[in-house]
Amino acid sequence: MNQPCVYLDYNASAPLWPSVKEAIREAMDICGNPSATHADGRATRALMEKARRKIAEVMDINAAQVVFTSGGTEANGLAMHMFADKVSLCSQIEHPAVREWVPESHQLPVTSSGVLDLEVAAQRIESLRPDCVSLMSANNETGVIQPLEEVKEMAEKVGAWMHVDGVQSFMKKPHSFPQMGIQSFAISAHKIGGPQGVGALILQEGTILPHLIRGGAQERNRRAGTPNVLGIVGMGAAIEAIESYDWSKTERLWKDLQARLKALSPHIKIHGEESPRISNTLSFSYELMTNEEMMMALDLEGISVSAGAACSSGKVTENHVLRAMGIQAGHNLRVSLGWDTTEAEIEKVLGVFESLIHKQEKRTAL
Ligand code: PLP
Repeated sequence: MNQPCVYLDYNASAPLWPSVKEAIREAMDICGNPSATHADGRATRALMEKARRKIAEVMDINAAQVVFTSGGTEANGLAMHMFADKVSLCSQIEHPAVREWVPESHQLPVTSSGVLDLEVAAQRIESLRPDCVSLMSANNETGVIQPLEEVKEMAEKVGAWMHVDGVQSFMKKPHSFPQMGIQSFAISAHKIGGPQGVGALILQEGTILPHLIRGGAQERNRRAGTPNVLGIVGMGAAIEAIESYDWSKTERLWKDLQARLKALSPHIKIHGEESPRISNTLSFSYELMTNEEMMMALDLEGISVSAGAACSSGKVTENHVLRAMGIQAGHNLRVSLGWDTTEAEIEKVLGVFESLIHKQEKRTAL
């Protein structure tokens, strides 16, 4: 079997841009610890600082506000760790990188459309007066964009720190850190076509971070350990690549896929359809088949999608996001598109689905 693969799992990890590979290859010829003061150390440091300046430029901040990390999980953890012994609130649909820092009783519900329930949020923030409120900018499963501005105002009223997990919306939607008026923002490179294992936490100026990992004064004493310079170079290159990419191309394919998928069967339901969403993410259920059956059929055709959040064991776990939205488990898939998705790939997915659904509905009608 030698069929081309159709990769539609960008929200888990996007493929590397060719320019990212090139930038990493070039950086591999430079050797030196970025903390070293000799010429090689300085050359390595210069590469890292170039990427830091790129993040600063797109987020409207000073380069010193960027702390490089090993990815989105660590970036979120660095922020949430500040409030480990204090009172924090988040939504029920946060990534575990945030949710696991917050007691279940402090996790706020979402509506059936996948948006934070603002009425409940206002009441809880007012009564609990938390030290930290954390909300993701867009959900990884449904793509639903969360009401950051409203929640930031609620947090501000009670003097709480506002942290935003920006991993799924960074560079897919404009973000200006000063305009958002928040205190911290987490990003990750592999969701935008950079390498895995690298990310950053953006902090308001003057923040003193308690160490999550001990053993070094790197990153202005905010994150110990020699940074992943090759990864950081790749992250900078990915930002440059996605910055000049015409996102409307992805948006058009996404809209087309959604409309034609819905037309295939009345048993297909799109999750969060009525909410504003990042225009690459399609979460849906087909109630006549299980997600495992659908995943297997697609996998046989060389199509990679997700049946829930990817987890470290490689197994599909119950989806806490859909549960919070009151959606019956077990029939859902997530298709996520990106910079290298083509029209031919969307045609192929639709063709496979059409024949799957046709067979299933003929069988069900018997
Ligand atoms: N936050 C969100 C919303 C995510 O989707 C992910 C990854 O799936 C993370 C955080 C974790 O990022 P990383 O994989 O870089 O640790």
